[in-house]
Amino acid sequence: MFLGNQFSEIPAWLHDNGKKLDSMLAAQHVPHTILFSGSEGVGKSEMADMFSKALLCASNIKLPCENCKSCNLFEHQTHGDFLHVSCEDSKNNIGVEQIRNAISFSNKTSAFGRRKVILINPAEKLQRNASNAILKFLEEPPENTTVLLVSNRDGNLPATVHSRCLRLEFNSPDYQTAYRWLSEKLPRESEFSKAIALSLRQPFKALTLIKTKEFDKLVATIGSQDSPIGLNIGLLGSLAKQKHPDVLLLEYLCLQLEQFLKETSEASLKSSSSKDIFECQSKLRSLIAKLDQGIALNISLNFTNIVSKLIKVMEQH
Ligand SMILES: [Zn+2]
Repeated sequence: MFLGNQFSEIPAWLHDNGKKLDSMLAAQHVPHTILFSGSEGVGKSEMADMFSKALLCASNIKLPCENCKSCNLFEHQTHGDFLHVSCEDSKNNIGVEQIRNAISFSNKTSAFGRRKVILINPAEKLQRNASNAILKFLEEPPENTTVLLVSNRDGNLPATVHSRCLRLEFNSPDYQTAYRWLSEKLPRESEFSKAIALSLRQPFKALTLIKTKEFDKLVATIGSQDSPIGLNIGLLGSLAKQKHPDVLLLEYLCLQLEQFLKETSEASLKSSSSKDIFECQSKLRSLIAKLDQGIALNISLNFTNIVSKLIKVMEQH
C-alpha cells in the first residue's frame, strides 16, 4: 500500500492527499492525469516524485518498496518507463518539442511491461503550443501511461487542460506545524521564524532557504522589518530602488505577495480595501507574467507604485 509503512514520515499537511493517492493505488484505479496544485515549496513535487516511484514499483505489497529493480532505477534517475519533463537549462519554459518527445515516449513499449509515467513540472511553464499538444494527448491517452502535472500556478493552464485532470490541491500548514517539521530537519532554530515568514509557510521552501546562501542574503536585505508580509514588501521596496535587482528574487517576492493577497481577498471580500487588493493582484500578476517571459522592465517605475499600495493593504489587515 502506498505510504503504508512510511506514513509517519510524510509531513502532516500532506496526509490528506497522501491518503487519496494511496486509495487510488489500493483500488488500482489511477486517473490518466493528476494535477498537483499549490504554492511552491509546499511539498507537491516531493509527493509527485514518490507517487511516480510507487506507480512504477514492482512490489504488490508495500509501495514504493525501495528494494526492487524499478525502485533502484528510479532512485538513480535511470528508469526507462519514467520521463521527467521540465524547463530546459537554457530556457524558462517547456516547449512543444519536449511534449512531442513525451508523446513518442508514451507510444514505446514499456521496459518493465507495465505502466509508464510522465511527470511535467512546472506545468505552468508549458508554452502555448506545448499546452495544445498536451491537450490533444490527454484527450486520448494511451492505456498504460499516467501523466502527472505539478504546478505552482495552475491558473496559467488552459481550462481545457484542467478539465482532463484530477486536481489535488496542496495547502500550506499553520505556523506551528511548519516550525515543528523544520525542527526535525535542522538544528538552526533561531532562523526558523524568518524562514517560515519569508516562504509564506511553505516548509520545503523554508528548508531550502535556510540551507542556501539565499536566506542570508534575504535576511541581510530585509534589515529590521519584523512582520512576515512586511518583510517581503520591505524587500520588494528596496529591490525597486536598485538599478539591476536580482530578477529571480523579484519574481519570488511577487509570488509570495500574490499568495498573501489571495488569502487577504478571501478573508475580506466586502471590506473597503477589496478594490486596493484587487488592483494589487492584477498588477502583480501582470508583472509576474512579464518577469516569467524575461521581458525587460523598468523596475523602479513598475514596483514603487505597487509597494505603496501593498503597504496600504497590509496596514488595513
Ligand atoms: Zn519497488
